[in-house]
Amino acid sequence: MRIWVNGGLRDADDARLSVLDHGLTVGDGIFETVRTGEGRPFALTRHLDRLARSARGLGLPDPDLDEVRRAATAVIDANPVTLGRLRITYTGGLSPLGSDRGTAGPSLVVALDGVSRRPDTTAVITVPWTRNERGALTGLKTTSYAENVVALARARERGASEALFPNTVGRLCEGTGSNVFVVLDGRIHTPPVASGCLAGITRALAVEWTGAEESDLPMEVLAEADEIFLTSTLRDIQAVHRVDDRELAPEPGPVTAKAMRIFDERAGNDLDP
Ligand code: PLP
Repeated sequence: MRIWVNGGLRDADDARLSVLDHGLTVGDGIFETVRTGEGRPFALTRHLDRLARSARGLGLPDPDLDEVRRAATAVIDANPVTLGRLRITYTGGLSPLGSDRGTAGPSLVVALDGVSRRPDTTAVITVPWTRNERGALTGLKTTSYAENVVALARARERGASEALFPNTVGRLCEGTGSNVFVVLDGRIHTPPVASGCLAGITRALAVEWTGAEESDLPMEVLAEADEIFLTSTLRDIQAVHRVDDRELAPEPGPVTAKAMRIFDERAGNDLDP
């Protein structure tokens, strides 16, 4: 595997950052996960825009988006895979222990691995922990993902692949790495960004392409919804067949199946929507 680290491609064994990188010591970093297919990234411009927004939110220096684009292209070319997960990580950089963010400048790492297509349906759980809709990091895609790691481990223990969070006032928010949609009386709804969820790129495309409404939703909607689905870069649209102990249809319901078809068609026709 060839990885881009601070200015050039390296073999994975030689790809090094300082062990005192602020991204490692305090989680002071941001990232993007971009799907690649047949050597081409999907929605790269939207991902770069969000990377720049996250950097601003965290007070990191503006990333050089031309360099990030060049790095992404170099990594994609150097690691041929059918379906790939391109990971762009941008951190505070080398910072002596106990210091604020270092002066050596930020670190940029771009790596890619092959992934398999996600199943069309999955099981999810809900967790009692909350997303903070008014935090300093709300809406930023930071590398401080430990809470998601804990919630995902809980989901795995229960035979599920995703965990859904309420926000601090008990409204439906998002998953550890996905946005959530529900179907009520034939209409598609998803929590607004004000709920504290990440402004998912797949979410935005799904809203645009299916006419889904952004609605403030109670957690209890998961017990009533006719259909539920998740969106994320690696899932696109994935139907939920079980939420906690509630079984839904084993196959994507009609509204979800239609959304999946629309998404496949639009995303297939435009790689940088
Ligand atoms: N919410 C969180 C917390 C995420 O980490 C992600 C993606 O990783 C998403 C939502 C979905 O966003 P996207 O569609 O941009 O992948």
